[in-house]
Amino acid sequence: MFRINHNYTLLPGSYLFSEIARRVADFQAAHPEAEIIKMGIGDVTRPLCPAVVDALHQAVEEEAAAETFCGYGPEQGYPELRTLIARTDYRERGIDIDADEIFVSDGAKSDTGNITDILAADSKIAVTDPVYPVYVDTNVMGGRGGMLNADGRWSRITYLPCTEENGFCPALPATRPDVVYLCYPNNPTGTVLSREELTKWVDYCRREGVLLLFDAAYEAFVRTPGVPRSIYEIEGARETAIEFRSFSKTAGFTGIRLGYTVVPKELTGVDACGNKVGLHGLWKRRQTTKFNGASFLTQRAGEALYSPEGQQQVKEGIDFYLSNAATIREGLDAIGLRHVGGSDSPYIWVNSPEGMTSWEFFNLLLEKYHIVCTPGSGFGKAGEGYVRLTAFNSAERVAEAIKRLKSHSL
Ligand code: PLP
Repeated sequence: MFRINHNYTLLPGSYLFSEIARRVADFQAAHPEAEIIKMGIGDVTRPLCPAVVDALHQAVEEEAAAETFCGYGPEQGYPELRTLIARTDYRERGIDIDADEIFVSDGAKSDTGNITDILAADSKIAVTDPVYPVYVDTNVMGGRGGMLNADGRWSRITYLPCTEENGFCPALPATRPDVVYLCYPNNPTGTVLSREELTKWVDYCRREGVLLLFDAAYEAFVRTPGVPRSIYEIEGARETAIEFRSFSKTAGFTGIRLGYTVVPKELTGVDACGNKVGLHGLWKRRQTTKFNGASFLTQRAGEALYSPEGQQQVKEGIDFYLSNAATIREGLDAIGLRHVGGSDSPYIWVNSPEGMTSWEFFNLLLEKYHIVCTPGSGFGKAGEGYVRLTAFNSAERVAEAIKRLKSHSL
């Protein structure tokens, strides 16, 4: 009999969202009259903006006519889109990135997972805790996790706690990993790192020869002046970092799928003999072999985001979510719950009331206020005692949720 990849059998089931769904369904069955407000959703709620809708219609027409029909495109993305990305997202902001360092894809989840293909099988990985689970699970699939401990942590992975005690800033690891994942603005905490903090990380990674995988899926939410939106704003990052970006939350592309990854030409690792090898070439080889490009329609839609109307409409969409986030933060302040995030991010990370676990607070919010959150412990051990709220909702439902919270004490 053939054998399967044993590492998959080590992964625990994805308990978090199924358990939330089960608890909500049980509660709704017992209280059919309750109007539940979902404040834990990590998916956008606004439709595509008009510039994108027009571009999609136009692209369908192009695909429908023999003269303009496009089949397979370049695996790394159409040059028009790559040029727009390099120019608008980087060069116009004073960041040195070339169009051929941009690899267009179907989203940041695929890329943050697939990047493990070009890492040594025994690489040591470091992640923040709490963490976007894809970084951990994809490394476990590749055999880099070791064994799962009783506390839910993997024996070969280094965890860098981000809690109220350290201001949600991960400390440099005590022992050198080969690869470190940072995600800022962060999912789930909604916090950002200052230029000084990011400089500390880039300097460390360069000094120690560590690959920095920087997930900037939420960069468009940054509004605080001076907070970097790209790791390449930090000097030296081209030699040590890969950056992932997504149009999902920026432009409501969670359904139509588009993202990109930046692999600078200077970035090198070593092979089994100690020879330097460029990661740009490796990722290009990986993508051209295993990926056939993001769809023509989606890339056309992506191009439309860079038109003046597209840029304006994207900004309006993000402003809308940030205004929801501000409403949530004001409401939490009013009822005396400590929280971070929500000013440069759609996520708000809330301390459970004194002594309550994440799930206890989840139950309280569901039973007393009919509000659904995401328990922080589902994102890692250091997430215990917190819950995540999101701004992805209508303004009316956010206002209603806050009204409920203010109307009865916790
Ligand atoms: N990275 C982070 C930190 C995320 O939170 C998400 C989605 O929730 C993704 C990546 C996935 O993005 P995409 O929809 O582009 O695959």
